[in-house]
Amino acid sequence: MIFPGGAPPRLEGSFCGKCRKQFVPVRMHCSKCRGRTDLVYLDGCGKLITFTTLYVPPEGFMPPLVMGICEIKGGLRVFGEIHDYRLKDSLEIGEAVFVTEKDGKYFLHLERGAAAQPATS
Ligand SMILES: [Zn+2]
Repeated sequence: MIFPGGAPPRLEGSFCGKCRKQFVPVRMHCSKCRGRTDLVYLDGCGKLITFTTLYVPPEGFMPPLVMGICEIKGGLRVFGEIHDYRLKDSLEIGEAVFVTEKDGKYFLHLERGAAAQPATS
């Protein structure tokens, strides 16, 4: 498996030690007990749970906009834009994806899409 940048993606998240709950995006307080959370780095690899294609996306986005939900290890679900929309017609529920974050936005990448591209160094 080849990842952009050469390393498996890490996602910044939060962890509540009392409830053993993880959160993405990062949040200061646990949604359950309101206690302080700790910053953690989560493995961004997971599987595609569902996706949809928007042909009339919100302003500022180019159609087609493909959005999906990835379930990462530990069961946490992350909603984000599917990076390579050209593969949208062959997306499969359950297929391997990984999540990256940039400027507060989440992107889902297909592992097979990453493997098909030359590695960036
Ligand atoms: Zn908690």
